[in-house]
Amino acid sequence: MRVFDPHVHMTSRTTDDYEAMHAVGVRALVEPAFWLGQPRTSVGSFTDYFDALIGWERFRAAQFGIRHHCAIALNPKEANDPRCASVLDVLPRYLEKDGVVAVGEIGFDSMTPEEDDAFARQLQLAIEHDLPALVHTPHRDKAAGTRRTLDLVKESGLPVERVAVDHLNETTVRAVADSGAWMGFSIYPDTKMDEDRMVAILKEYGTARVLVNSAADWGRSDPLKTHKTGLAMLAAGFDEADVDTVLWRNPVEFYGQSGRLVLDDLPEAAETFLGNSVLRGER
Ligand SMILES: [Zn+2]
Repeated sequence: MRVFDPHVHMTSRTTDDYEAMHAVGVRALVEPAFWLGQPRTSVGSFTDYFDALIGWERFRAAQFGIRHHCAIALNPKEANDPRCASVLDVLPRYLEKDGVVAVGEIGFDSMTPEEDDAFARQLQLAIEHDLPALVHTPHRDKAAGTRRTLDLVKESGLPVERVAVDHLNETTVRAVADSGAWMGFSIYPDTKMDEDRMVAILKEYGTARVLVNSAADWGRSDPLKTHKTGLAMLAAGFDEADVDTVLWRNPVEFYGQSGRLVLDDLPEAAETFLGNSVLRGER
């Protein structure tokens, strides 16, 4: 089974996670820029973080045979902090860089006017930089948040096939399926969507335009949930081609719209050993 995790925050994960992911077939991923837990108080903290996503984390993933790409954005939560508003002004130079395959994650957290503004402006940036957009839907008031999300996408003029609406569940999938946007599902250990519910949705809606991610971060989460969903699909009677569609071909098709995916094999063992020395600061 080969896996492309379309949404995982590796900055908050360990090298054990990278090893375990590689062992079950994860060969590529996208790390979207997000809220780091501790509020940031200046634009400089964002640019250092963006540089780490484009540089350091990409290098770190490569040591474990995994191709790392990222999405860059001002996340919905921090869009409400006036100290972070000018992050929007530095985004254009990041959206031109290698390895940046989408604008994201954007969208709504509490659906404030500030979030509305940042969301709309970043959809325009996706158009200007010819990139797809990864859109986070709020964990509270999900149905209303998803409807408002789809309205804003429509108003923006960004083609809907360049938009993935993420963190969906049984109550929000229909609206997104009907809209023509990509449907993202985050599979978590004990909240929101799990593997069996995901399989039930795949049975009802099919495999087209479906993206399955682990959304693993610094909270309780599991970066192997993509692979586990593949196993649950096989156990439920899907074949290997279906699994490959959901866990590999779909994310490649969605992010491939950026023209910036790199999916060739990484050099093996010797390079990895050298890389680990660099990671420990021995060279
Ligand atoms: Zn996320």
